[in-house]
Amino acid sequence: MNDEIDLAGVGIGPFNLSIAALADELPELRTRFFERRERFAWHPGLLFPGSRMQTSFLKDLVTAVSPTSPHSFINYLVQHGRFHAFLAAESSAIERLEFADYLGWVAGRLSSLRFGVEVRDVRAVPDGFELRHDHGRTLARHVVLGTGRVPAVPECARPHLGPKCFHAIDILARPLHLQGARVAVVGGGQTGAEVVLELLRGTWGEVAELAWVSRRLNFEPLDESPFTNHLFTPGFVAAFRDLDGPRRQSLLARHKLAGDGISLSTLRDLHDRIYQLAALRTGPRVELLPGRELLALTPHGDGFELLARNNLDGEHEALAADVVILCTGLREHLPGCIESLLPELERDEHGDLQVDANFELRRRRRRDERLYIVNGGRTTHGIAESQLSLMAWRSAVILNDVLGRRRFAVEQERELVRWRARPREDARSR
Ligand SMILES: Cc1cc2nc3c(=O)[nH]c(=O)nc-3n(C[C@H](O)[C@H](O)[C@H](O)COP(=O)(O)OP(=O)(O)OC[C@H]3O[C@@H](n4cnc5c(N)ncnc54)[C@H](O)[C@@H]3O)c2cc1C
Repeated sequence: MNDEIDLAGVGIGPFNLSIAALADELPELRTRFFERRERFAWHPGLLFPGSRMQTSFLKDLVTAVSPTSPHSFINYLVQHGRFHAFLAAESSAIERLEFADYLGWVAGRLSSLRFGVEVRDVRAVPDGFELRHDHGRTLARHVVLGTGRVPAVPECARPHLGPKCFHAIDILARPLHLQGARVAVVGGGQTGAEVVLELLRGTWGEVAELAWVSRRLNFEPLDESPFTNHLFTPGFVAAFRDLDGPRRQSLLARHKLAGDGISLSTLRDLHDRIYQLAALRTGPRVELLPGRELLALTPHGDGFELLARNNLDGEHEALAADVVILCTGLREHLPGCIESLLPELERDEHGDLQVDANFELRRRRRRDERLYIVNGGRTTHGIAESQLSLMAWRSAVILNDVLGRRRFAVEQERELVRWRARPREDARSR
């Protein structure tokens, strides 16, 4: 495959899939998206039956900017004959399995996608980029990186990664037998909570002991209250972008629970389960250990000893486990295939990439050919960057930029909240 196109996408997760779905409305644009997996999958290693979305189904691939697109979640329901049955439950937090099925359905309808093709190298050439991949090479005027985030593993756990100490990202793909084991789950976000629930359900056998360690001072809920949800609007992203680095950093920390808390329904399920085990004096011994910072992990016998600092009382504690499951989140990461472009990329004093308002990675010398990134600008665009909430809007911003015209209406909606100070002149004239 040797071809020349306008826009090439590296990776087909939900974020580049959204760009591909909207680009389907633009016959004038030649696009191609490459994915190394053989078929579309959305975090398959964590797709527990019954686990639910943390965002509304209306935050799908297209609806926010193209509500009449055939690639909407509503059309998926209609085409599958489930529209009325779906509405009967009046639930907006649908199961992740259903959303993954919707994403796969859209992927199957787009001719611009190529699966089973890993992009090995992206380099700058006159008038664009050359991509080398499993099927040959492609010349593209612009590239959008959508390769997602990678597991964040605490430093102390890295030397011990293996069948008994692993990140949860691929837990469903592992041959796990935990009957009678002492298991420590590290991480107090949604994934930690879901893994603990699965362990209590006996998905991998009945464990003997289960310790749930979290740095957070408690097992805290996702903040889904109305005004917090306004953080996931184009207007807030614009306000965030204009702030200086220290203000943005401090907001990212303060907004943690808006994007990274545990769904209330999961907390209730967990509490019920753990309470019932205690009341009936049955099942594994469960230890809930919030406010613990993991300091060290050392091999001990056939398992490990975990050393933690208790952030509540400042004491140190040791814990023994046969298996350690790290639910310690994901971190931004540039794919190896753009190695030759790295020296060109601008970074701030903390080493963070500079992502412009059009989602272009800022390069030392400005060029007409653009390298965009999705899910790579948390420090410049805020917590919405790694969530589905503004995915369709972001895709439209990128496509407008590629086209050089306003094809999709992406200007800010009328905001209910005024985030920034009104300019003084403006204030006086009122
Ligand atoms: C378990 C889980 C549940 C989540 N639930 C929600 C939710 O309910 N609501 C919400 O708003 N957000 C949620 N998120 C956050 C976010 O929506 C997802 O992480 C989302 O998958 C990010 O999409 P992405 O396209 O950036 O990356 P990914 O989904 O990670 O996709 C990246 C793709 O790029 C491919 N790739 C990488 N390198 C190459 C290469 N060189 N060549 C070709 N292909 C390559 C990978 O194989 C992968 O398929 C969830 C995250 C997780 C982990």
